Amino acid sequence: MNRIDVINEIAIKAKETDALLVANIGIPCKELHHVCDVPTNFYMLGSMGLASSIGLGLALARSERNVIAIDGDGSVLMNMGSLATIASRSPKNYLLVIVDNGAYGSTGNQPTVTSMGTNLAEVARGAGNKDVFEADSSKGLREIMKEVNSGMIIVRVEPNNADVPVIKMCPEEIMARFMANI
Ligand SMILES: [Mg+2]
Repeated sequence: MNRIDVINEIAIKAKETDALLVANIGIPCKELHHVCDVPTNFYMLGSMGLASSIGLGLALARSERNVIAIDGDGSVLMNMGSLATIASRSPKNYLLVIVDNGAYGSTGNQPTVTSMGTNLAEVARGAGNKDVFEADSSKGLREIMKEVNSGMIIVRVEPNNADVPVIKMCPEEIMARFMANI
């Protein structure tokens, strides 16, 4: 399974649950934009590590909406404290999906420490998160997402990037469009 397969499943889940969707910096944003571009997608283009934090803030500020954030292993490793902050609030409307390809996929697939033994599901549990799920197939991910709208899912994928076009909107346009639609 590749990251774009996971992103496709998440886009379907977001549509079904009318969720706001935050995508991690780099190629994940481009893959989501290619799979399903809607105004309730926030393509986080400039702040590595902060997709999970932005998702948490949105979920707390807009508690009547479902929020999903797509993050990566490299970004979660960069902002690991976010896992503890999320645990301390555990909003019932926030689902964080960590796509773990064991690599910094957007910069040339340099290996991350999750390919050397660091287990992000265990880190998330150790940080205090109660609802932590794991998947390594589209079917497994779909089954988990059928049941849950909150917590964390760690999905293991191959380190492959889809060949998709760049997003033509500038960050200001992305932000303005998103804010106007939430
Ligand atoms: Mg990665």
